[in-house]
Parts: sequence; structure tokens; C-alpha cells
Amino acid sequence: MFVRDADLAQWENTLPDLTGLARLPHLAALAWHLRQRDPVRARELSGEAQAMLPAVAPQDAPVLRARLLLVAAEGAWVRGELDTAQYHADQALQLLAHDAAAPAPLQVAAARGRADACWVQAWIANDRGDSIAASGWLAQAAEAARAASDPVRGDIIGAAAGICAAFTDGAGVGVQASWRPPAATLDTDLDAMPAIAAGWISDFLGTRAFQHSEYGRAIGHLMRSFDTALTSGQLRRAIIIATNIGNGFTCLNANEAALDWMQRAQDLARPTGWPLSIGMCLMQTAETLRQLGQREAAQTLLRESLVVLAPLAGSRAYAVALEYEGDLALDLGNHAAALDSFTRLAARGDALGQGDFQSSARRGQAHALAHLGRAGEALTVAQGALALARTKGDTLAQIAALQVLANIHARPGSADDPALAPPPGMSAPSAPLHYLLLALDIAATIDGYTVPGALLDATAREYAAVGDFERAYAIALRAGAARDLTHSREATNRAIAMQVQYQTERAQTEGEHHRQLAAAEARRAEILQRTSATLANLGAVGQEITAHLESAAVFRALDRHVHGLLDATLFSIFLIEPGGEWLASAFGVEAGRPLPPLRVALDDPDANSARCVRERRELLVALQEGEANVNHISGTLPTLSMLFAPLAVGERVLGVMTVQSMRADAYGERERLIFRTLCAYGAIALDNASAYRQVAATQQQLLDKNLELERAYQALEEVSLTDQLTGLRNRRFFLRNVDADVAMSLRGYDNMQERAQQRGQPRPANDCDRQAPNDLVFYMVDLDHFKHVNDRYGHAAGDSILVQMQARLREVFRESDYVIRWGGEEFLVLARATHRDDAGALAERMRRAVAERDFVLPDGEKLHKTCSIGFACFPFLPEQPRLLSWPQVVELADQGLYIAKRSGRNAWAALHATGEGDAVDLFPRLMHALPQALEDGEVRVVSNLAGPLELDGERRRTGLSIDLEL
Ligand code: GH3
Ligand code: MG
Ligand code: MG
Repeated sequence: MFVRDADLAQWENTLPDLTGLARLPHLAALAWHLRQRDPVRARELSGEAQAMLPAVAPQDAPVLRARLLLVAAEGAWVRGELDTAQYHADQALQLLAHDAAAPAPLQVAAARGRADACWVQAWIANDRGDSIAASGWLAQAAEAARAASDPVRGDIIGAAAGICAAFTDGAGVGVQASWRPPAATLDTDLDAMPAIAAGWISDFLGTRAFQHSEYGRAIGHLMRSFDTALTSGQLRRAIIIATNIGNGFTCLNANEAALDWMQRAQDLARPTGWPLSIGMCLMQTAETLRQLGQREAAQTLLRESLVVLAPLAGSRAYAVALEYEGDLALDLGNHAAALDSFTRLAARGDALGQGDFQSSARRGQAHALAHLGRAGEALTVAQGALALARTKGDTLAQIAALQVLANIHARPGSADDPALAPPPGMSAPSAPLHYLLLALDIAATIDGYTVPGALLDATAREYAAVGDFERAYAIALRAGAARDLTHSREATNRAIAMQVQYQTERAQTEGEHHRQLAAAEARRAEILQRTSATLANLGAVGQEITAHLESAAVFRALDRHVHGLLDATLFSIFLIEPGGEWLASAFGVEAGRPLPPLRVALDDPDANSARCVRERRELLVALQEGEANVNHISGTLPTLSMLFAPLAVGERVLGVMTVQSMRADAYGERERLIFRTLCAYGAIALDNASAYRQVAATQQQLLDKNLELERAYQALEEVSLTDQLTGLRNRRFFLRNVDADVAMSLRGYDNMQERAQQRGQPRPANDCDRQAPNDLVFYMVDLDHFKHVNDRYGHAAGDSILVQMQARLREVFRESDYVIRWGGEEFLVLARATHRDDAGALAERMRRAVAERDFVLPDGEKLHKTCSIGFACFPFLPEQPRLLSWPQVVELADQGLYIAKRSGRNAWAALHATGEGDAVDLFPRLMHALPQALEDGEVRVVSNLAGPLELDGERRRTGLSIDLEL
């Protein structure tokens, strides 16, 4: 509701560090708390906040919007524009309606807003003079404060309700009747309370004491509340309190102190231009001047105050001014005018329901009536005034009424007036003395009260009238002393000085001030009207700009809207480079043509763009026609208006955006608001785009990393699948791939059988298609007497032969065949998609590839080596492709190798199925009873060797043909 200056200063300090949407809550809070301290700035901040509202989450917007409306409402209220104020406050209340479905923190914020909105409504009603409505609003404010669980607000509102009640005798409705200051009335308790609530309770206690004519106590309380109000941005309240303190001193006839406080109030009020504040100061000063006998001066000020207060004719202040006007008219002997003033005051007092005016109005009317020769009426009315003052315990009003009664009876001829009977129970020597002595008795009960000289003078006069000159003389002496006290020369001089000061100032400033006010008001109204239409559009523009994920698209969108909304010969965006030392133009268009790229050092002392980023604030450079631009970049058009604004998101400044126009004064309040808004949207969009780029880049990096990993993994695998010495594939590789090849081969045979069946052939041909062979041939190649190489030439020589073997194997077999270093000097070759009838020829080519060319040892020596080869085909039995597995076929190849070795080396041998006999248990029989199987014709051995072959340690003629398919 209110914050102390020290806290506010901290907020002010943090605002420049905030950018983008992060500013919004701060802006709203600052605008609210500056509402009375600095209404112009409050309106500016509120405007900036307003522009951001479209970007706010929909659930948060109403409370913020309402807060900004309350800033406007209070601004209008203090300016005395009560209808406008109420319009804004009504709107705020609509936005803040209780929503049980809202999240708890939002409900609390809305309840606080409601409390403040009702508070403003109460003061608006108060200034209208509608105390019933005011107290009704305060009751609602208290209810909202309870809903917000905000006891400090509750105390402040309660205290204000108490103040209203002090004027209306609790005749209003709602809280004020039931509210009691929470800490009773002890100052020690107040010290323990939050300062601002304590200040308002002091205000209440002071006002109540004032109403009970305890002026000394009242002043004590009010001084305390004055300090709090002054240091918590409650300027209007502070001014009222200062005038009340001044009034308190006036009541005590301490005019010097009164003037001190009037002066303070006036110093505070003068710069505000607030009618109620200024009006109150003027009338209180006028009243003090009147009491000092400066009637002319008092009259000028009082007239002035009534003019200023005219828009607030319903207010209590206006009624007080009427009372002062009446008293001044009486002093001037203008009794008809006085009667008129007091009659109007009576009507106002009745309307306000504030009893103190009813008494003083009657007192004044009676006084005027008496002088107008209507003594009878005067007496009745004066007695009424006295009765009212007694009921209210208003001692000063009693004294005033008694003085009037004395005056009525003291008028010439009154003793003979049948309408003027002597007062009942009179013990004094005369009726006037009766009343005057009663007044003096009451005066003696008022703490710190200096009995006015006029009262003492009248008493002395009446004593003299009844012949008691001794008393008359003594009292006349007291009267002189009293007058010295109350009418010091200093006080009089000061009062006159104040009045002169006010009038001179006014004369000097009035004309200019009114002109400025009118011009500013007209401008503001126009700007507001145009801006609110633009702002509605800006919301949509913002959505469009921030929808883009690519910087280039954001630039284009900004460019389009900048040119749509502003006069911009040049539009350019600079972004801070990654090093943070340079600004680089990211986009720039001048008169429809792209600008050449430009870089600006961030510490460039002259460049506006760099300064804008460094200082994180908007810069407006406004040149007049013919004025030279020191920053003009040659080759660009000479612009007169240049607006720079930082592109900032939260704490981070991304760069700067500028628009420039060849027109002078192209960028006013409205244009700057629009530009600022575009910058806010642009910054958000560019930040999004950069975040998007980063995510994309990170994703790409991840992909690259994956690829690298994949490659590394593949390389590793390659290594694990490759023989390090020869670069041939290893056993691991073979095991990994062989199943797939076997499966393919089997599929080929299956297809073949299917086709044969379709053709009506019971069995497929004993061989596969020569063009698209499905056979796999497993070759086992082993170097002969290799141990000997190692033994004779060393291991390295052996290695070099293994390496050379690799090349010879590759010469013979196809790229697609698997050439595997099976272990040691033994190689396995899987010839894929080969026809079994070609297998022998391949074996022979391999044998020759080794035997017919010497190997070269590392020392250059040539070495003749041979190898032995065994092979077998898969499927081993084409009619039953699944009869033997590939490992069994490899074992049969090994069998072939064994045969070749046993039969003399530098040879090859293979076991071929014949398709004869019972295939059951074929493999075990081949492994363990090969000669028998050969005899039975189940298999045949094929070899390059012509002679008998060694099968099982015995050289035997197998009786089988040896095919040499060379
Ligand atoms: P054969 O096969 O003709 O019966 O005679 P061999 O001497 O080749 O017989 P064996 O298979 O018993 O010997 C193989 C030798 O090959 C044993 C080892 O000294 C040698 N050897 C195995 N691996 C390597 C190798 O990586 N480098 C070298 N330099 N020698 C190897
Ligand atoms: Mg060997
Ligand atoms: Mg070997």
C-alpha cells in the first residue's frame, strides 16, 4: 500500500539493471509507489508497463492492469478529477473481482488490489463529501485486506475509518463504528507496530483528540503521523496533517507555530498543483492571518482557496473554508455576507453529517443575526450552537458560542429587549459576564491554551460596564499580555511575508503554468488516445515477431513493422559479437536499400549505438534543421532524429536497435513507446532464435559426435575383425558372417528345388545354376614346412612370407570371397557364390600361386615355398542341403588338407559327395571311416595328385578317379 523512501530507493536502483519483461512487475510497483511522490514519472513507468502487458501470461495480466489503473485513479483523485478517478477505480475493481478458481497467490494479489481500489474509492467519496459512501468503501477495503491476510493494510484502513468516524460521531455505517485502534492508544504499543500502520493510527488518535479539543495531544499524534506520511509517499496526507497541525496551533492561539506548519504544508503543496492540498493551505493561512488581524490579506487568500476548492465543493475542506469566510465577514462587519456563508456552511455540515460544522454554523449565524438586529433569533440559534458543542464536547465551539451569547446580551438596548431573558441560574452581575465567565472557565481546562485577548477584552469591558473597574483593569492587563503572546510582531510579519510570497509567485507562474498545463493535458490526451489504439495492434505485432525462429525472419518482421509504425529513413540492428567487444550490424536498411556491414567497438566513446548498449538505456538524439550530426557516417543520409534502444532480455543485452529519420522531432512520447515495445519483442524473438540456433548446433554436434563414435567403433571393430600381421580378415570376422552366407546358399537351393518341383522334376539337378551359383566352397590352405622357415630364417622371415601369402591369396580369390587367417600359417578361404565344379580349379590356381613363385625374405633372399589345400563344398549333399552344417563342411575341408599333406604336400584334395548310399550318419562315417565310405561310393576324393593318396597313415589307391580340372 505504501513503502518508505529507503525501500523505494532500492527498487529504483535495481530498475535500470532489468530489461524486457523482467521490468514489468518492477515498473508496476514503482509506478504505484510513485503515484503521489512523482505522478509524472509514475505515469511514464505505467505507460511502459502497459505496453508490455500483451506479452504477459493471461492469468497475471488483470492484476497488473488493475494496478496500473489504480495509479491512474489515484493520479486523477489527487488532481481533483473525481469522475475520471472513479472511472479508473471502477475498472480496476472489475478486473480484480474475486475468482475462487484462481491460484492462491493470485487471489491474494487480487484481494490486495481490491483493498487498494476500495481505498481510493473511499477517498474519492470523501472528497465528494459522501461520508456514508466513503465509510462503505472503507468497510469493503477492510474486508479485502482480511481476504488478503494483510493486517497492516487492515490497520491502515481501520485507522482511516476511525478518522472518518471522528468527524461523523460514528454516525456512518460499517467499520468505523466497530473499529478500535489495535494497540489501544499507547505510544509504546505503536512503536512495536509496522511504522506506516502506526502512522495512520497516530493520525486517527490525533484527529480524535482534536475533535475532543485536546489540541496539545492532537498535535503530538499528528506530528508523528506527519513524519510517516511524508517518508512513505503519502504526500497528500502529509499536507493535510501539516495543515491540521497548523490548525491545532491556531486553536491554541499559538500563531507562530501555526504559521510554521502552514509554511511546511504550503511548501509541500505548491509543486503538486493538487487543488485540495493547495486550497487547504491557502484557507488555513488565511484563517491565521485573520486571527492576526490581517483581514485584507486573509480575504484575498480565502477567495483564492474557494476558487481552487470549487471542484471539491462537497468536501470537508470546502466547508471549513466557508466557516473561515463567515468569520472573516463578521470581522469585516459584513454581517449579511457572514449570514450567507454560515447558512451555506450549515447545509454543507448537514450533508456531510459532520457535527462540528452544525455548531459553528449556528454560532456564526447567531453572531450575524445579532448584528442584523434579529436578537431573538440570534439567541435561539446561539443556544442551539452551545447545546451542540456541549454534546460533542467541543470546548472551543462552546467558548465561541458563549462569546456570541455574551455579545447578543451586550448589544445596546438588549437589556430592554423582551426576547432576551437573562440566562437561568445567573450568578454573575450581568448576562454578558455570565457567559464570558463560563467561557473563561472552559478555556482554563484546555491544556496549552492561550486565552484570546478578545475574550479577555470583552470580559474587562463587561466588568467595567457593571462598575467593577478593579477586575476590569486586572483582566485588561491579562488581555494585553495574551495579545502579545498570540500576536507577536514576528508572527504578523511572517504571515504577511507568506501571503506576499504566495501572491507574487502566483502572478509570475499562473499564466505560464496554465498554458503549460493545458498544452500538456491536450498532448497527453491525444497521445493516450492514439497509443491505446496502437497498443492493441502491438500485441498482435509482438506475437508475429516472436513467432519466428530464425534471426533473418525476425529482422524482416521488425523491418516491416518499424516502417509501418514509425517514420524511419534508417532502420538497423546491431548485435554484440561473441567476444563482447564489438557491435556488428546484423540488419540495416536505409531508404529501402540494405546498408553495408558495420562494426562498432563497444567502448567507442562517440557511437550512440555503443553508448546505448553500455548504458542500457534508450537514447534520443534530436537535431534541428541545419544542425550537424557529429556521428554522421559518411555515405549515409543525414538524419535529424535518431532513436536507439537496447535489445535486452532479462539481464542480458543482445545488441541495439535504431531508427532514424530525416525529419526533426520525429520521435515523441508515442513513437518512443512503440519503438520500446518493438525492441522488447525483437529482443525476445532474437533471443529465441539464438537459443534455437544453439539447440540446433548442439544437436548437430551430438550427431557429429555420434558419427565419430560410430566411426571409432567401426574402426575398433575393423581392428577386431582383422589380422594385424597380414591385414586379412580373422576368425571373428568369419564367424560373424558365415551364417548369413550359409542361409543365402540354402535359400538358393530351396528356390531351385521349388522350381524343379514346378517343372515336375522329382529332384533338382545335381548341380546348381552355373550363372548364379549357390555353392559355398571352404578352402583350408596351409604352408608346407613352415616351421622350417622360422627355424632357419627367423620369425620375421616367417612373418614376411605370411604377408606375401596374403597377396597371393587375394590374387586367386575374388574380392567378395572371405580370405581368413585361420591361425598360424593356416588360411581359410570361403569362396562365395561359386559353382562346386570350379572348386578344384581354384585350388590348383592357389597351389600354383604359391609354388611357382619364390617368396622374398626381408634380407632379399628368395625362398621357394609350397602350400597344401583341402576343401569341401556347402551344401555337401546338394539333394539334402541341410544334411551337414558348415562347421562339419569345414572339418571335411580339413580332412582334405590332411590328405594333401599326407600325400606329399604342394597339393590339394577334397571330399565330394556322390549322392549314393544312405545319407544317415554320413558325417561321422566320413570322419572316422573314410576309406569305407570311399569304398562304398558315398564320397569321392578329388585331388591334383595322380598317385595313390594317403588317407589314414597308409598310402592307398582309393580306386577313385582323381579329377584334375585344370
Ligand atoms: P606342415 O604344415 O607342412 O606339416 O609343416 P609345418 O612346419 O608348417 O608344421 P606346423 O603346422 O607344425 O608348424 C607351423 C609353424 O608355423 C609353427 C610356427 O613356428 C609357425 N608359425 C605359426 N604362426 C606363425 C607366425 O605368425 N609367424 C611365424 N613367423 N611363424 C608362425
Ligand atoms: Mg604348415
Ligand atoms: Mg599348420
